[in-house]
Amino acid sequence: ENERLRLPPWLKTEIPIGQNFSKIKNQLRDLKLATVCEEARCPNIGECWGGGEHGTQTATIMLMGDTCTRGCRFCSVKTSRNPPPLDVSEPKNTATAIASWGLDYIVLTSVDRDDLSDGGSNHIAECIREIKLKNPKIFVECLAPDFRGDIECVKTIATSGLDVYAHNIETVEKLTPFVRDQRANYRQTLQVLKEAKNINPKLVTKSSIMLGLGETDYEVEQTMEDLRSVGVDCLTLGQYMQPTKKHLKVIEYVTPTKFKHWEVRGREMGFLYTASGPLVRSSYKAGEFFITSILR
Ligand code: SF4
Ligand code: SF4
Repeated sequence: ENERLRLPPWLKTEIPIGQNFSKIKNQLRDLKLATVCEEARCPNIGECWGGGEHGTQTATIMLMGDTCTRGCRFCSVKTSRNPPPLDVSEPKNTATAIASWGLDYIVLTSVDRDDLSDGGSNHIAECIREIKLKNPKIFVECLAPDFRGDIECVKTIATSGLDVYAHNIETVEKLTPFVRDQRANYRQTLQVLKEAKNINPKLVTKSSIMLGLGETDYEVEQTMEDLRSVGVDCLTLGQYMQPTKKHLKVIEYVTPTKFKHWEVRGREMGFLYTASGPLVRSSYKAGEFFITSILR
């Protein structure tokens, strides 16, 4: 029971570091902006910060503090019923830092704030508006909470001027109660993605699935179809990694070949892009994919 699976060779990677990466890292030191990329020691940082073929640089930052009101069993963010109040200067300060950083594409993620009546939706929307105001050329992706399915909150985000509305389904329907917080739910996530698109049809919508939690191929296929059925445009699939011993165990290390298979299936199903691989995270090279698959 307590035995852990051995890490397969494809996950023992060196973090590749490019020239652009070092440049951004130096700039970042003066901006006092904490990125998820650095804090999570993401193995994709060289690729994302370095930009791909088109030099489109992507980074991810987390809004609304470091304490979440939820406790998903795959996530290492700390939990509290009453996190500290929101920082009212966050929208302006974040926007200033991002604009001087000179990035092409920013992914905004956040903790869930079920303690706030609007789930923090107005705060997130304010951050998006400030970022666009200070740099109208930057593309903004927001990885938004489910807001417990509250359509007003979804609307606040969907009409804030962002380019990509992301909300992660995380796993297949059967495993959802064991993997995600009890307040999250598979059908609610589909509904949120559907509403975001209904409210603002110009939005690109996006979702992500973690593999290796014990799901079957049939269930993965079903989840992908469910996402397509609510008009989701972009999909990412990556390996679930256990952050600490207290978190859910990895049931399977999915092979690179199988990830490739899901990428092909995603294309066949009509996703504008499907990023699928053992190290893929929901923000993986998001800017590069956006430029090459959506704006082309
Ligand atoms: Fe982590 Fe998000 Fe779940 Fe909060 S809601 S515990 S940040 S995955
Ligand atoms: Fe940052 Fe996401 Fe890229 Fe990792 S995958 S480096 S967190 S943008």
